[in-house]
Amino acid sequence: MSADPVTVASPTGVLVAGAQEQGAIPIVPAGDEACGYEYSYADLFTERLRAAGQAISTVQVPLPPEYIHMAPEELDARIYRAKSLLGDRLFILGHHYQRDEIIKFADARGDSFKLSQLAAARPTASHLVFCGVHFMAESADILSGADQQVILPNLSAGCSMADMASTDDVLACWDQLTSELGDDHGIIPVTYMNSAAALKAFCGHHGGIVCTSSNARSVLNWAFERGRRVLFFPDQHLGRNTALAMGIPIEEMALWTPGAYLGGQALDAIERSRVILWRGHCSVHGRFRPEQITAARSSDPNVNIIVHPECPREVVDRADYVGSTEYIIKVVTEAPEGTSWAVGTEIHLVNRLQSELPGKRVVCLDPVVCPCSTMYRVHPAYLAWALDNLVSGNVVNRIQVDETVAQWARIALDRMLSVP
Ligand code: SF4
Repeated sequence: MSADPVTVASPTGVLVAGAQEQGAIPIVPAGDEACGYEYSYADLFTERLRAAGQAISTVQVPLPPEYIHMAPEELDARIYRAKSLLGDRLFILGHHYQRDEIIKFADARGDSFKLSQLAAARPTASHLVFCGVHFMAESADILSGADQQVILPNLSAGCSMADMASTDDVLACWDQLTSELGDDHGIIPVTYMNSAAALKAFCGHHGGIVCTSSNARSVLNWAFERGRRVLFFPDQHLGRNTALAMGIPIEEMALWTPGAYLGGQALDAIERSRVILWRGHCSVHGRFRPEQITAARSSDPNVNIIVHPECPREVVDRADYVGSTEYIIKVVTEAPEGTSWAVGTEIHLVNRLQSELPGKRVVCLDPVVCPCSTMYRVHPAYLAWALDNLVSGNVVNRIQVDETVAQWARIALDRMLSVP
């Protein structure tokens, strides 16, 4: 990328309109332009990423009391009414892990990437209400049209995994790695879909790429065609499980602890690593344990174990099937009647599979309920409130990614789409 000095760019971070309006975030401190200080493009871009990362608002304004005390039937009636009044202008997206009281209103169900693609394919919908978590709404904004507005009904619906890789920590990691390893560092950054827009943009800018749980192996192959090593964030388990399946030995992986110099690793461990794994995990999938597989098999010798690759290595190693949310749905749905499944993923999806497939036995691998607690924050009261506002002409909780950040994030996403 060019390092030519440029003049000051238009400064905005992630804007959250309506309930939590953010002001413009200056890239260059006031007065420096007048002093004649020249910022390189790289300086400006890094500051822009930093600003975008810091500007993410997860502060939800309190709901008006009437919504808090509203009966479920009244909330449903309000949501149905808004859907009918807004017609094709509204498209409600429901992530598979969402509660049933929300999913029943969804115009489309899917994982985060599929929903973003579906949103982009609905140009008549000016309002895309994403019943998921923050990074999903950001991705929908990046991939949707300029005249479409993305709304997250509850701004406090974040993702604990995405939050484990802050923009500042990833920038610090990159600075340390590139200064210790030198110009010939050979690192390709790869971010999982479950990350902030600023990190997708960081990957776009540094020759890197985005992956999903469906295509992580193909994406890592793409990366190794272009570099000697991969920096994979934020999910250590997806990175480790994928690299092991590709035949990369565990000795050639280093675990990076954010906040510690060189991630807490000795330089020679970094030098011999082919995969540097960020110490992040999903609070839902990280709960699954090998003992649960042992217990499931002993209570039902015919059970099939199917788990998500965000589960720890010891769980993935013992499972019969491993794959993304969409893969799990496909395999269990297409399995013969009478078969038995213990599933290592989010409980709302598992329960929905059981109720929609009554001819099969479908249970969660974890006997103790493991919902995605942040996604659960999208309660019908928030959906009703956001839709009532839309009917009145007010857009609340809009998720809008800074345009420069979105452009670079789109580059990383387009690279992913180009991978066969
Ligand atoms: S299930 Fe895990 S990765 Fe997915 S949104 Fe919830 S915390 Fe994030």
